[in-house]
Amino acid sequence: MPSHPPPEPADAAAWRAVRPAIVYPAGTLPQPDMAMLGAARQTMTKIDEVIVPPRDARCFRVARGQFFRIVSVEGPQVGDLNLWNAHDLSERFFSGKTRALHATHVSTGDRLWSTMPSLRPMATISHDTLGWYGFDADGAGIHDVIGTRCDPYTNRLLNGGAYDFCCHSNLARALAGELKTEPRAVEQHVHDVLNVFMCTGFTRDTHQYFMKASPVRPGDYIEFLAEIDLLGALSACPGGDCGATHSSDAAACHPLRIEIYEPDRTTLAGWPWPSPSDYHRGHGAQPAR
Ligand SMILES: [Zn+2]
Repeated sequence: MPSHPPPEPADAAAWRAVRPAIVYPAGTLPQPDMAMLGAARQTMTKIDEVIVPPRDARCFRVARGQFFRIVSVEGPQVGDLNLWNAHDLSERFFSGKTRALHATHVSTGDRLWSTMPSLRPMATISHDTLGWYGFDADGAGIHDVIGTRCDPYTNRLLNGGAYDFCCHSNLARALAGELKTEPRAVEQHVHDVLNVFMCTGFTRDTHQYFMKASPVRPGDYIEFLAEIDLLGALSACPGGDCGATHSSDAAACHPLRIEIYEPDRTTLAGWPWPSPSDYHRGHGAQPAR
């Protein structure tokens, strides 16, 4: 807020009393068939797992129709998740549109949407053991699509120094390893994350982004159906449970485990696998003469 706000108009109270309208009301968004997902989950078997060490990241690949879990092991730990179309890195997770379509925090039944011009679900959340949390008295929830990821540029801006193990760097290092190149060659592919297990909100008075210790315990997990072939990367944030600090080696950090599952595919025979948006992409331009 400016220190000397401009004078209010006479009808200021009336303007503030206008009723809000939900931008994208629930009911217009096609809903996933959770009963079909539930039946598929009953048949799935684990086929692979990847351990993400603390203050580091790992890539993983999930084929369309497989499930993947991010699992808490050893102790409370926040994970920063990036997702790409495995065949086209320009199609990637779109945190802002996911927030607009669902909410600031996501859970079972919500979807992770991809960037335009595809704009389609990349993954559907099929189970979330922290779904009990909801929103607390501070307005905080779990698994936010508000935050961006901790990064060395912002840390340098605010604190100076050059810390190399922020989630942005961890994700860039992991992607570079996957693509056999250098982090600086791929860091533009790293994007705003799903903050897995992180407990966050906006303060009531100043509407600033805040974090509090995550309630995640070993054994907790969030699980997704891959709606397209995915390349993922997960960073175990240097903030640990993100209860106090990040962008340093100060917090206690723990590994995370990624588990990949194969279901009986006949259980998903009727699943409407998403195609890229069929908008014509003319954008109102006149045809060239
Ligand atoms: Zn982080």
